[in-house]
Amino acid sequence: MRIVLLGAPGVGKGTQAQRLAREGRTIRISTGDLLREAVRQQTPLGVEAKRYMDQGALVPDAVMIGLVREQLAARTGRSGYVLDGFPRTIAQADALNLLLAEGREPLDAVVNLEVDEQELIRRLSGRRSCPKCQRVYHTESAPSSSGAQCEACGTTLVQRDDDRAETVRKRLAVYRDQTRPLLDYYRTRGLLISIDGLGDVAAVTDRILLPLSQAGRQQAGRS
Ligand SMILES: [Zn+2]
Repeated sequence: MRIVLLGAPGVGKGTQAQRLAREGRTIRISTGDLLREAVRQQTPLGVEAKRYMDQGALVPDAVMIGLVREQLAARTGRSGYVLDGFPRTIAQADALNLLLAEGREPLDAVVNLEVDEQELIRRLSGRRSCPKCQRVYHTESAPSSSGAQCEACGTTLVQRDDDRAETVRKRLAVYRDQTRPLLDYYRTRGLLISIDGLGDVAAVTDRILLPLSQAGRQQAGRS
């Protein structure tokens, strides 16, 4: 299936996208990971993107669309994907429609994960990352057994620039203004499935899979 996963920063999109990809025997395309990799390698795109990410702003549409176009071209005719982190604006959603129409491979569903904002702030501001192996921890819900060091490689953990409290509030405001309108966009196209994102990771995955399997059966019935 071809799925877009939507939700505010901190809602658990990355984790759920990985689990959905595994369940569906497909892959997760994470634009956040692609961007961070470009930043790490200091490619021209990475250098430009970092300026926006550090401020909690969205990376410009043209940059994001170029990045996704490459990824989707490599997936044409294969077994779908879970798109995580894109689209984030109406302009990006329009561009995605065009790309998918070219390949005649429309989306099957757009899954929206809902979690209230206070919980998102708590989740994001407690996040700590290993700068070496990229493992992610949480000061409350998933602390490292090695304290301030990464339990896998011993490197001192850091708070990513985009997880600092003031940046988190900015990211949530940007989400409300620019990404939240996508819910109506996909609702009117009959693609939106909204899911309660609170609670156990596995329970949330199950909540997503149930309506997805129904959507899959309906499609099989139509064709
Ligand atoms: Zn590490």
